[in-house]
Amino acid sequence: MNSDITLQDSFAARVRIAGRVRTTPIVFSPSLSEATGCDIRLKLEHTQITGSFKLRGATNAVLSLTEAERANGVVGVSTGNHGRGLAYAAKQAGVRCIICMSELVPQNKVEGIKAQGAEVRIVGRSQDDAQVEVDKLVAEGMVMLPPFDHRDIIAGQSTVALEMLEQTPDLETVLVPLSGGGLISGVAMVMKAVNPSIRVIGVSMERGAAMYESQQAGKPIFVEELSTLADSLGGGVGLDNQHTFAMTRDLVDEMILVTETEIAQAIRHAYWQERQVIEGSGSVGIAALLAGKIRNPGRCVSLISGQNIDMALHHRIISGEDVDVTAEG
Ligand SMILES: *Cc1c(COP(=O)(O)O)cnc(C)c1O
Repeated sequence: MNSDITLQDSFAARVRIAGRVRTTPIVFSPSLSEATGCDIRLKLEHTQITGSFKLRGATNAVLSLTEAERANGVVGVSTGNHGRGLAYAAKQAGVRCIICMSELVPQNKVEGIKAQGAEVRIVGRSQDDAQVEVDKLVAEGMVMLPPFDHRDIIAGQSTVALEMLEQTPDLETVLVPLSGGGLISGVAMVMKAVNPSIRVIGVSMERGAAMYESQQAGKPIFVEELSTLADSLGGGVGLDNQHTFAMTRDLVDEMILVTETEIAQAIRHAYWQERQVIEGSGSVGIAALLAGKIRNPGRCVSLISGQNIDMALHHRIISGEDVDVTAEG
């Protein structure tokens, strides 16, 4: 078998996290349906508490800890959506949470994590220095919860797929933003267990598509991280990947890449046509649809994964400015 994470784990996660995460709506998109000639719907998961689906996995993982582990607390290194989700999930469960980050992390990100109730530990000038601190805390008994390559995280993310099936029982195609693959592994596992003919398509940005390039290579490889509007999709898949590389290989039907221009266009579309503020990473499904990169979408749900974009940047994009984050470093 391609994975030891099952539909049963998904239902168990759903029961575990019930009442602690939102059930997010699915809406029909007249404009995208018109543009593609198909039935396109949006799963508004960016309206999740903390602004992304990452809360699902983090909540499931925190609630799956043993009593002893709960007493010692959890630690993470993410400064983005996983960090926010983990901080919030731990706080709600009354579990201590430390997020380690380097001095180079911008102040607004530090505040974003603190606002969710975590302790922030600022160490050194690189991600590697932060990792040394994490290793020390783990040696002292804390549990490190990674952003995607972990059973309980994948099972937690998979609960979004159960909702999608209930909200669109006859769905044919699902578009899922893809980075480390925790989200798509969970979604694809559920979809294929229910009906193998449902197409699951991963969408990443061209700049630094680590899972895409690793799948091309046939094994997890190092892919340089590049600046992109889809900043939550940056980072590698881990050279010793345990779950998501194989699950993506075995369960995902296609992987599609979108350009920076297409991402900006999708953020604009989401705002002006759908009245939604979404971050670049959340917009890649819309980007692929608008660019005509999805063959025969049919009855299609595009998963909008997050909303945590810098609002000044968002304002520039929706105002029509040709923002080039690749030049801004
Ligand atoms: C983390 C994240 C993703 C990608 O999730 P993976 O499980 O790493 O593939 C997509 N969109 C947003 C907004 C995210 O925060």
